[in-house]
Amino acid sequence: MSTTFDGRVALITGGSRGIGAAIARRLAEAGATVAINYRSNAGAADELVEELRAHGHRAEAFGGDVTDPARIADVVARVVEEFGALHLLASNAGIEHFAPLADITLADFENVFRTNVGGQLFAVQAAAAVMPPGSRIVLTSSVSARTAVHRHTLYAASKAAVSAMALNLAPELAEAGIAINAVAPGGTATDMAAENGADYVHPALAGVEPQQVTRSMNALGRLARPDEIADAVAFLLSQNASYITGSTLDVAGGWMR
Ligand code: NDP
Repeated sequence: MSTTFDGRVALITGGSRGIGAAIARRLAEAGATVAINYRSNAGAADELVEELRAHGHRAEAFGGDVTDPARIADVVARVVEEFGALHLLASNAGIEHFAPLADITLADFENVFRTNVGGQLFAVQAAAAVMPPGSRIVLTSSVSARTAVHRHTLYAASKAAVSAMALNLAPELAEAGIAINAVAPGGTATDMAAENGADYVHPALAGVEPQQVTRSMNALGRLARPDEIADAVAFLLSQNASYITGSTLDVAGGWMR
C-alpha cells in the first residue's frame, strides 16, 4: 500500500478550515502540492499555507466562491498556471442548513443548491477539462443523504444529489481516465457542527444538547475528527483505490439509521 502523492497537484475547495484543512494537511504530508480554495476567510487560508510551508510543503491559497462557475474556472486556471498541472480535486466546500419546511425560501434553496450541488458540479467540470488521465476526484456528500434528521430536508437533498453526481459522472469521466467518488461523513467536529442549533433537536428531545444527539446516532458514540475524514479522502484520491469509481464511502462511525 502506497499513499504517496509526490509530484501530484491537489485542489481542495473549502480548504481553509475544518475537514478541508485536514485534507490539505493530509495530502501535503504525503507529498502533494496543495492549492487551498476558500470563500471569504483569507486569514484562515493564509495561516494554513504558512503552516504547511513551515513544514517544507508547497502550498498556495486561491480565493473564489464556488457558487460562481466562472470563479471556479478561474481558480482552476490559476492553479494550473502556478503549479503546471492539476491531478487531484477534493471538492469539499459546503454549507449547512436547518429549517422547518414552512420557513424554507427560494433564496435558501438557491443558496444551498448553488453551493453544495452547483459548486461541486462546476468544480468537477473545470477540473476535468484540464486533468490528465490518472487524475482522481472526491466529492463531499454526507450521511444526511440517506438518513432522516430533523428539519434537515434541504441540506440532505443537496447531499443526495452529490452522491448521484459521483455515480453518474463515473462512466463519463472514465473515458478520460479520471476516477470520481464521494465521501459521506457523519457528524464531524468542525465550525459547521458547532453551529448546529436547537432546530436540529426533535421536539421529543427538547433540551438535549445538539451534539449529544449526533453522538447518539453512531456506533462509536462520538463525532469524527476532521483528520479521520481526510484519511478516507486521501485513500480515494490514491492509486490504492484504483478499482473504485462512482462510489460514496460512509465515514460515519457506524451511523445507525
Ligand atoms: P466548515 O464550515 O467548517 O468549513 C467550510 C469551508 O468551506 C470553509 O473553508 C469555507 O471557506 C468553505 N466554503 C463555504 N462556502 C464556500 C463557497 N461558496 N465557496 C468557496 N468555499 C466555501 O465545514 P466542514 O469542514 O464541517 O464541512 C466540509 C464539508 O463536509 C461540507 O461539504 C459539509 O457539508 C460536509 N460535511 C460536514 C459534516 C460535519 O459534521 N462537519 C458532516 C457531513 C458532511 P471560508 O473559510 O472562506 O468561509
